[in-house]
Amino acid sequence: MSETKVEETKLEFKAEVKQLLDILVHSLYTHKEIFLRELISNASDAMDKLKFESNKGTEIADSGLELEININIDKDKKIIKISDTGIGMTHDEIISNIGTIAKSGTSEFLKVMAQSKEDASNIIGRFGIGFYSVFMVAKEVVIKTKSFKKNEPAMKWVSDGLGSYTISELGEEVKRGTTIEVHLKDDMDEFLEKYRLDSVVKKHSSFITFPIKVENEQVNTVSALWREPKSNIKPEQYTEFYKFLTYDQDEPLTTIHRSVDAPIQFTSLLFIPKRNMDMFGYNREDFGLDLYVRRVLIQHQNKDLLPEYLSFVKGVVDSEDLPLNISRETLQENVIFSKISSSVTTQVLAHLTTMAEKEEDKFNAFWKEHGKTFKMGYMDYTNQEKFSKLLRFNTSQSKDINELFSLDQYIERMKKDQKEIYYLAGSSREAVTLDPHLEIFKSKGIEVLFLYDPMDEFVMEALRKYKDFDIKSAEQADIKKLGKLEDVETEKKEKAEELSKDDKKQFSSLMKRMKDILGDRVMDVKESDRLKGSPIVLVNPDDGMTSTMQKIMNITGKMSTVPPKIMEVNKDHKLIRNLIKVFKQNDKDEYLTTVVEQLYESSLLLEGFLYDPHKLVNRVNSLLENSSEWYTDVKNLK
Ligand code: ADP
Repeated sequence: MSETKVEETKLEFKAEVKQLLDILVHSLYTHKEIFLRELISNASDAMDKLKFESNKGTEIADSGLELEININIDKDKKIIKISDTGIGMTHDEIISNIGTIAKSGTSEFLKVMAQSKEDASNIIGRFGIGFYSVFMVAKEVVIKTKSFKKNEPAMKWVSDGLGSYTISELGEEVKRGTTIEVHLKDDMDEFLEKYRLDSVVKKHSSFITFPIKVENEQVNTVSALWREPKSNIKPEQYTEFYKFLTYDQDEPLTTIHRSVDAPIQFTSLLFIPKRNMDMFGYNREDFGLDLYVRRVLIQHQNKDLLPEYLSFVKGVVDSEDLPLNISRETLQENVIFSKISSSVTTQVLAHLTTMAEKEEDKFNAFWKEHGKTFKMGYMDYTNQEKFSKLLRFNTSQSKDINELFSLDQYIERMKKDQKEIYYLAGSSREAVTLDPHLEIFKSKGIEVLFLYDPMDEFVMEALRKYKDFDIKSAEQADIKKLGKLEDVETEKKEKAEELSKDDKKQFSSLMKRMKDILGDRVMDVKESDRLKGSPIVLVNPDDGMTSTMQKIMNITGKMSTVPPKIMEVNKDHKLIRNLIKVFKQNDKDEYLTTVVEQLYESSLLLEGFLYDPHKLVNRVNSLLENSSEWYTDVKNLK
């Protein structure tokens, strides 16, 4: 197997790498060919890194070597060799890069595999662990590599992918770079055919920017698509490039291709995927744009070209003006870089704005998939107006959960003297629709934005204003001001009979009694102006937080009690009218206590603050028992 055994050491793969290999070696895959894409992509990365070092002025071994990838077939021995002239690896680098040190991608990949039916070969590339896919087709892999660093010996790495590998000095003269020898499994003969390898390279690696030669014949056309004039590019080429870049199997939702000449010269080719790629929320690091300087890759997945709320955008940015020897560490402080970055952000927002105007369905599709990420943009103060314009809401005017409106549409429909934009949060459309706080808005015909995601309220509180209008929670609306507005015809119900003078007094005393029953659990009990259909509602004091905010505080452990609230009572509700009767008869009647406790706890339940439902359930049961007696009496049942 080996000609020299100088310092050969045997090392075990890290436990989770073993698990990964176990999956790859023993499962059946539909796309085994992707191993070649992964090896070519590693080879190309290694040459990008070499260019980068050389631009920095680093001294390089074998500096005259052409940068290219060579693929050769040995039919007799059933071996494919993939060679590059990239940076190579030293002894320590092999150990840390391949197999021994855990990479976050490995465990993320394993989690996704455990949870989904995805074919591993379809997604492995996205997790930065592509090298191991070679074990889908290989019974043994030999890596021969020589670092670009002078005076480092060439190394040899051998493994059958079953749990361990050996590493030793190669002991023969080789030039800088890496050769991966793939000793094919017995049933993998298809990969010994040149035409098969040609077609795999064409299909998966056509956008690699170095020549790829199979048996000495170049297969790809080396060109940077983003540098071509837009008019020369066919839609299929964009799609192919997108698939190459992202590993997505679907076409992109939309493509943005721009060349900017002044004040800074750069080209961007950006895509928004149809689906949110962070399928399970594990691969948090998988975002960012590839940054090139005059076609040389400076950084893969740069995280600062776009703000995080636009992290769903994929693509490349190629600058004419940045220095080639720029270090990644100082990029962020570079003035040209930050100008490019703000310009790219503007490009994306402008594109989305046009899409919202001209391709509503597409925009809605974007919103459904990426809206959650996009909403984080409330912190981008420079672009706040553009950002807010792109927000979409389900509202009280929507015919169902799917109909969304913009803030501009809301403003167009505002009532004559309405000065504020109102929102109400809840867990679902049903929950918000039944919220007593909504009643006055219904009767006045004022539209309310419905918020279902706890995030949304942070967004609204941070924005505070849109154009000339304050954004306000319906819970904190000024009820007196709203009360002055006209009722909507259709909502007009029969007015309840006025209370007599005496009953009014009794009602005041009843409210005092209610406060006695509830004690410190409520701050006050007051007559309500906002209720139409419900007997009571719990409201927050004027300067208090909204209910959702309180719940978030509870979840995050900052509060664990029920926040103090004011109970508002609807004196025109049938139940309250009956309670007045009971109260007049006997102000200490037990029934009063039961009903008041029940009303209070039902409200807590609606607002999500009822931590122990036992008392409530027992009480409801005994009320049901009583009412069943009354019912059988009325119906005269025996
Ligand atoms: P990724 O390439 O996404 O980081 P891989 O598992 O495919 O993950 O490769 C692991 C690492 O091994 C690479 O990051 C790189 O440092 C090193 N490597 C792989 N192939 C080569 C190569 N041809 N030349 C130099 N280094 C390589």
